[in-house]
Formats: sequence, C-alpha cells, structure tokens
Amino acid sequence: MSRPVKYNINPQVTKISDSISYADLPEGMEGEGFYATKFEKIVGLARKNSIWPLPFATSCCGIEFMATMGSHYDLARFGSERLGFTPRQCDLLMVMGTIAKKMAPIVKQVYLQMAEPRWVLAMGACASSGGIFDSYSVLQGIDQIIPVDVYIPGCPPRPEAVLDGVLRIQDLVHNESLRRRNSSHYKALLNSYDIQ
Ligand code: SF4
Repeated sequence: MSRPVKYNINPQVTKISDSISYADLPEGMEGEGFYATKFEKIVGLARKNSIWPLPFATSCCGIEFMATMGSHYDLARFGSERLGFTPRQCDLLMVMGTIAKKMAPIVKQVYLQMAEPRWVLAMGACASSGGIFDSYSVLQGIDQIIPVDVYIPGCPPRPEAVLDGVLRIQDLVHNESLRRRNSSHYKALLNSYDIQ
C-alpha cells in the first residue's frame, strides 16, 4: 500500500526582504539628495562586512568551526564565508586547536605573512591558554607569540560562541581608527612580540 502524500495546505509566503538584514549606515548627516560621513566610518563598514578568515585548525576545535561554516550556522551571513588558505589574502587569523611549541614558529610566520590590518581570534581553551594540555610540549596560549584580539572560551566552543567571537571581531574592525596601526601604542605592542 502506498503512503498517502501530504501537501502543505497552508504554505507560508516569505518575502526575500524578511531574510536579509542590511548593514547599518555609519554615523553621518543625511538629507535630501546627500549623505555625509567620515571616510574612516565607510572603511570600517566595508572591512567589517568582508572579513576573510584564515582557519589555522590543528585539532577538535577545527571540527566545530566546520559546523559553523555549514548551512545551519552559516558564517556567510556575516560576510566571512570566503576562507583563505594563503595568509597574504586574509585579514583574520583564526587559531583553533592545540598548538605544540614546535608549531609556534609556524603560527607566527603565518601571522607575519598577513598584511596589515590584521586581527587574531583564539578559538577554544587550547589556543587561548593551552587548555587541558599543561605539558612541556604545548604552547600555553598563542598570545605568548602573537597579539590576540578576541578569545573564545570553551572546549570546544559551540558554533554560537564562534559566531559571537566573529561578531566581537567585527565590532573591533568597525570601530578601529585608520591611524591605530601607526600609533606608538600599536608599535609598542608588536615590539613586545619582537615583531617589527
Ligand atoms: S579546546 Fe578542547 S575541543 Fe578545542 S582543540 Fe582543545 S581539546 Fe580540542
């Protein structure tokens, strides 16, 4: 006996505009026929919504990141679906997983090959602090070798936490002054990591 086929007798009509969220305009002055804002705000808006991450995944947190890229969580909603596997094309280094001390120079080299402006996100307990691997061979947090902008706690963090971390990075990117990278404060930060 064949199974009865059920049709949806109450189809929901969705408007495309319901599922698209527009980026907020930067602060400015608007009036009929013109809109004025600061160059810095426009650059921040563009950068914020087109972050190109470089996933540096070494272990289980990388799997959680794959879930974040899947259709259910979909990092593309935040303009960050274009992952890059060459540091020269990326502006967000996402380190996820245990980093052995032997691998630390490689992480640093990848960071150095990224052009400014660049941001760093440490995903999970291992990348942030060494996690449960308090051993002679594991780096106790990537901030021992490169500056980190945002830490995502958890072992592993859920995809929601990863999305939250990316949103925190977006806030930083949006509000960063164009002059920050030339400031003495920033240079001192890099010098403290022996980076010129
Ligand atoms: S934080 Fe936990 S889940 Fe992530 S890499 Fe370390 S052990 Fe694996």
